[in-house]
Amino acid sequence: MSGLDPYRVLGVDSSASDAEIKRAYRRLARQHHPDRNPGDSASEDRFKSLQSAFDAIGSPEKRRQHDEEKRFGGMRFESGGLGFEDILRQMMGNSQPQYSREPTSPPAQGISIELGIDIDTEIAESGGKIPFVLSRLRRCRRCTGHSSTGCPVCSGRGVERRESTVTVNIPKGVEQGHRLRLKGMGNEHPTGLPGDLTLIVRIDPGEDRRWESNRLIQSVEVPYTTLLLGGEVDLISPMGRKIRLSIDPGSLPGDRRRIPKEGIGGGPLDVELVLAEPGTLSEEMHQALQQLRELGL
Ligand SMILES: [Zn+2]
Repeated sequence: MSGLDPYRVLGVDSSASDAEIKRAYRRLARQHHPDRNPGDSASEDRFKSLQSAFDAIGSPEKRRQHDEEKRFGGMRFESGGLGFEDILRQMMGNSQPQYSREPTSPPAQGISIELGIDIDTEIAESGGKIPFVLSRLRRCRRCTGHSSTGCPVCSGRGVERRESTVTVNIPKGVEQGHRLRLKGMGNEHPTGLPGDLTLIVRIDPGEDRRWESNRLIQSVEVPYTTLLLGGEVDLISPMGRKIRLSIDPGSLPGDRRRIPKEGIGGGPLDVELVLAEPGTLSEEMHQALQQLRELGL
């Protein structure tokens, strides 16, 4: 794996939903595909790094692992024969190390978990219950944490990884990046208190929209002539409203406009102009463009 941040490679925020990551990957992979850029080695490199970035965070399970590693300072949980549980065991300690035997030492506790939870714009608006699968260390069912190396279930760790379906109540009008804290729902400790679970809300903004540091960006395609001459384009807001946007003459792809109150939950919406691909040119268009070229455009 390269040292590049896969989120940056894919041009998405670390708070992007899984669906948003998939869309960004598909769009960029199409753009930089070797078939479309023959002989362009820079594009080929870009395509390869897109693929390894998507390998790293393209599935929810791999993404969780990647985020967890990043959170614990780049520790490689899966390498060198050390599993995640082994690292956790080292960090938690099945017995208290010598230097922390003083009465002032904090009580032993399981490691807290941070997890992204994807919701759609409707749930963000109205709130609702979202079930999700939580994988965490639970106290061993056999030895109930009073581990001896002889325990066949947890091999003396006192904890084992188990999955369960948890339902969380998403509050009405929740914002992107909101943190929901579920006390005691993190990893359990063989003898001490369980850690907490923090769910970070990731709102899937839908096609042609993305988050940039909790700011909502919507791309709108504008024909080249409209950029040059000015005009109007229509777009559908995240909340399903039709908006007519006037384009100033001499606008450029990448120009942005902020529209208040048209984002998710009444927040602002940043519209970004992108060049509409003209597709196949008709004979007439071709002739007109030839004329423009002769005129120096
Ligand atoms: Zn056990």
